[in-house]
Amino acid sequence: MVDPDCLFCKIVKGEVPAEIVREGDRTVAFRDINPQAPTHVLVVPRDHLPDAATAAATDTGVLDAVVREAHEVALAEGVADTGYRLVFNTGAGAGQTVFHLHGHLLGGRGLNWPPG
Ligand code: 5GP
Ligand code: ZN
Repeated sequence: MVDPDCLFCKIVKGEVPAEIVREGDRTVAFRDINPQAPTHVLVVPRDHLPDAATAAATDTGVLDAVVREAHEVALAEGVADTGYRLVFNTGAGAGQTVFHLHGHLLGGRGLNWPPG
């Protein structure tokens, strides 16, 4: 399923440019336009799902695919050993601004906890 008005659907389809770092059967990974760490990559499913809560409820294995792809990107970016953070902002109250499921892969610097 695709939402014609969704920014990340447009990136998946190649209608909006992005620096793509990895493509899988179910996912596309591209660099965040406003990086918050030396490595800041967004991993999104090709299917339009608004958020992680919807994905969890539909139980299609899509979250598994996103997490596995994020780990592959972390390995390729050289941050898997030093540590990385995978964030799913879920809902506007948690800071989600693009309502197409995406995991933020952050690494390459010290990451404070709690994140705020
Ligand atoms: P959210 O706040 O929804 O968790 O994260 C959305 C992310 O998408 C933000 O980190 C923002 O910088 C990124 N973003 C917004 N528009 C674009 C875009 O057009 N291209 C890319 N590559 N990233 C974007
Ligand atoms: Zn979408």
